[in-house]
Amino acid sequence: MKTLRPMPSLPCTATPPRNPAARWRTAVAVAILVLLLYQLRPSSPSKSTYHSLFLSISSNDTAARHLLTLTRRPHVAGSEANAAAAVYVIGVLSAASIPTHIASYDVLLSYPVNRSLLLSSDLSAPAVPFDLVQEIYEGDPFADVASEVLPTFHAYARSGTASGRVVYANYGRVEDFAALKAAGVEASGNVVLARYGEIFRGDIVRNAQLAGAVAAIIYSDAKDYGGGHGGKWFPQSRWLPPTGVQVGSVYRGLGDPTTPGWASVDHCERLSVDEVVESGLMPAIPSLPVSARDGEAILKTIGGQIAADDWQGAVGSSVYRLGPGPGYITLTYTGNETVMTIQNVIAVIEGKEEPDRYVLLGNHRDAWTFGAVDPNSGTAALLELAERLNTLQKRGWRPRRTIILCSWDAEEYHLLGSTEWVEDNRENLALRAVAYLNVDCGVSGHGLHFSSTPQLDELLKEAAKKVKDPDNTSQSLFDSWVIYNSPLIGRLGGGGTDFAAFVQHVGVPSVDIRFGRSYPVYHSMYDDFFWMQKYGDPLFHRHVAVTSFWGLVALKLADDELLPFEYKSYAFELQKSADVLEKRLLEMPLNFAPLFNSIEELKKAAAKVESQRKELERKHWASNWKNDHKVREFNDRLMMTERAFTDREGLVERPWYKHLIYGPAQHNGYLSNTFPGIEDAIEKAASSKQQESWQLVQHEIWRVARVITQASLVLSGRLT
Ligand SMILES: [Zn+2]
Repeated sequence: MKTLRPMPSLPCTATPPRNPAARWRTAVAVAILVLLLYQLRPSSPSKSTYHSLFLSISSNDTAARHLLTLTRRPHVAGSEANAAAAVYVIGVLSAASIPTHIASYDVLLSYPVNRSLLLSSDLSAPAVPFDLVQEIYEGDPFADVASEVLPTFHAYARSGTASGRVVYANYGRVEDFAALKAAGVEASGNVVLARYGEIFRGDIVRNAQLAGAVAAIIYSDAKDYGGGHGGKWFPQSRWLPPTGVQVGSVYRGLGDPTTPGWASVDHCERLSVDEVVESGLMPAIPSLPVSARDGEAILKTIGGQIAADDWQGAVGSSVYRLGPGPGYITLTYTGNETVMTIQNVIAVIEGKEEPDRYVLLGNHRDAWTFGAVDPNSGTAALLELAERLNTLQKRGWRPRRTIILCSWDAEEYHLLGSTEWVEDNRENLALRAVAYLNVDCGVSGHGLHFSSTPQLDELLKEAAKKVKDPDNTSQSLFDSWVIYNSPLIGRLGGGGTDFAAFVQHVGVPSVDIRFGRSYPVYHSMYDDFFWMQKYGDPLFHRHVAVTSFWGLVALKLADDELLPFEYKSYAFELQKSADVLEKRLLEMPLNFAPLFNSIEELKKAAAKVESQRKELERKHWASNWKNDHKVREFNDRLMMTERAFTDREGLVERPWYKHLIYGPAQHNGYLSNTFPGIEDAIEKAASSKQQESWQLVQHEIWRVARVITQASLVLSGRLT
């Protein structure tokens, strides 16, 4: 504020003021005038004005144009087409005036060289080869580049030839193999045929290997992906055509297989492929994904016992039997595992007040084929989001905190780009990352879905209230979400996409956002722009909604003075999970008191932090956020509490996983487990059948209790 000009000096007669009261009144009047002028000075719009502007400048044309450009050609990691996609992304981000750079890593990728699959109805019958080709559909606008689609394969599958009678193993889960064993059907020495749809494909192959199988074939059943037996398929409907194949990685680790836990930078330490296989993360048997048509052909050669009802196919399909044989398969697969350079594109909008606090948004760019849903619907949203932020910048907006847009490479090989970058930047991210917001398959249908670490639940709900549901504009995304999703928030223990390293390795509060659920042409060559235009998002208004929701959450996290984190939800989630666990293990010699006590402490800390928030907000009106160091200290506690759920040692047999609250299930990398370390110990104890092994479960309960206690201390900022 300006200081008041001193009163003009009086003639040197220097007589005392004639009327001190009048002078005093004048001074007050001038002060009030100056104060009024200060209040009325032209000021920049509020942050919420910019946030409303962000929502109002959407464009479905933009998203559609980006998606079409990105998906004209198949662009698997390491390919020339994927490098061209990176150039496009860099171009759009740079044109949006966002400084952009490439973070590249040399990683082990895997490509098919040779595949052959022979089937005979029994050992003495002639072997018939499959052609293993996904057919072009009528009117396919991308037929001219269909030859650029990689032959169907499993990345990192073991090279070799294997022969054996066929055993049918349903979805290839641990319980499916247990059921086979109970039925006296021997997988050992035979070829396992399993179907996609319940667990991560790498775990199907692993389970087959552990059961002694010599090879694994995984097919897409018409019941799950084809719209039923004899139904219509793409382009007549959204379902997977009979020759459609879901390709994908069978690596069970995360990141570059040769650098587990550290970044794949120049001349770094590396494991050999044999060492990775030995660790159990890469399969020791060959495998191949096949189509519904080929899977059915194989099933028809399997005799033996009739499979259970829930192992059968769609109504009208042939009866499935367990085998083994007499159908006999010879699989030959040769892969090329080779070190290639991948490129993460990183764009940084520097924060004005807190440049050293990061709000990160990420999506991968590489695709198994054209990638219209997976992942480039998310890329189109990311690019549209960047362009909207540029409009805000032109109108004078600068975020309080730094916003970082990440376009990851080689996610499909099992989260290589994001994992290497997080490992490379681990300490800085641990110090500075406020949150990570992931979108992979941005749009595959209608309806918002999200999974998050629980302190973000409230923020996500509030943001969903501000965005209209594109499929019912009379209500918000939140209204529809409540009606159709019952309302369910997933958790981030699974390893399905790029949030994994952020949450499970470093402990960064995160969310994963998508529109629509699983979709049938996933990882096939039919995941193209035409499918998206016909079935995924004909008007591209769902893309716009994803962009709006994703961007609004990011803007709140980047601009709100007090971070919109809420730990009561976290404590509530932990209580719920602990109650379920205790009920499940009532008969066991376990003491859950440490766990429940630690959760009580967290509840108290969360309540206290909420009253501190109110106090700071109250002072805000009085001081106009002059008390910045207090705000910063408050925010740091909120940010670092998630880190406290991690433990240096990590999970006992999976030390890369540091988070003790959320991690993937041991036998299904897709599934999120709460208290993964306790679950691992329970599984061991249950199979060993020794009373002492429950002591290890008790130890894991203690470990979880200890990290929750640490989280309470961080949240309250209290030393003992
Ligand atoms: Zn993806």
